[in-house]
Amino acid sequence: MKITEVRIGRISVPLRTPFKTALRTVNSVEDVVVEIHTDTGAVGYGEAPPTGVITGDTTGAIIGAIQDHIAKNIIGRDVDEFETLCQTVQKCIVHNSSAKAAVDMALWDLYGQLYNIPVYKLMGGAKKQIVTDITISVNDPEVMVKDALNAVARGYDCLKMKVGVSPELDVARLSAVRKAVGDDIVIRIDANQAWTPKQAVKILNSMQDQGLNIELVEQPVPARDFEGLKYVTERSYVPVLADESVFSPEDAMTIMKMGAADLINIKLMKCGGLYNALKIASAAEVFGVECMIGCMLEAKIAVNTAVHLACAKNIITKVDLDGPVLCSEDPIIGGAVFNEKIITVSDEPGLGIKGLEPGRLVYID
Ligand SMILES: [Mg+2]
Repeated sequence: MKITEVRIGRISVPLRTPFKTALRTVNSVEDVVVEIHTDTGAVGYGEAPPTGVITGDTTGAIIGAIQDHIAKNIIGRDVDEFETLCQTVQKCIVHNSSAKAAVDMALWDLYGQLYNIPVYKLMGGAKKQIVTDITISVNDPEVMVKDALNAVARGYDCLKMKVGVSPELDVARLSAVRKAVGDDIVIRIDANQAWTPKQAVKILNSMQDQGLNIELVEQPVPARDFEGLKYVTERSYVPVLADESVFSPEDAMTIMKMGAADLINIKLMKCGGLYNALKIASAAEVFGVECMIGCMLEAKIAVNTAVHLACAKNIITKVDLDGPVLCSEDPIIGGAVFNEKIITVSDEPGLGIKGLEPGRLVYID
């Protein structure tokens, strides 16, 4: 199975409701899609969202990295030299983790198709179903209560809430939601680097003292402040999950060696795809650190790949893959079935993506 062509296109998928965090409001998913064509007719699919504020990868940068660097290095090569191909993707350009992730997943898709095995089984095959949380957008407390109750009515038992704008407002929002949904619903929070270490300890411990019963906090302090993260982890009653601090397997190792976090969040767009995500998962197994699998605002090609990883590995115990259920439509055919909180992996060879609805992929080449 020889790689003959790498095609790039764009898709736009509207969200059910605008996605609001402390930093931005988003109305639709606008992602880059990669198709890797082969001489057997098999096509591998990949996807990457532009998340300039997190990864530094814009739409133009993703397209440029794939066209000008990655594609040139893989066209003409055989999918069966898989390990070497994966290494080429990582080594042919520095940074650009989203572009690498898109191409990496398309290669895994092809490798699975070549040997007629679903990718989650290729990587471990621990389970066929996972349960995701759902993110409640940042709004006035009354609106958030309404959204939270609506999510619970749809069957979700784990809510993720973004915090970090102002401690008083955050506590007001969390208190309102906790009161409305009761104690059986899990609430996790994501501060997206908003606090100093001392602020974080004070805010988190006061939240627990007020009975908010927070399951975990994501990234309380700036990404590169590993010492600060460790400070919070040692002093906060709320378990700390490193997200923006962990882009690479090396970051994960450093954080785990330092004891700087209780948990690690794996996202394909941060680490450059499954090749590196598996290294993070393996390191976490050695350290006994449980992982969450997360996503950006992604459509189903990319999130489906994360589902394969989550279903492959028992060390991934927490799932934050609500991208597709936040979308108002699904133009992608095949892949995992998203039935509200229950996600069932596809048993088709590769990643199980069959293609896109006609006209939905706008090719740029
Ligand atoms: Mg996060």
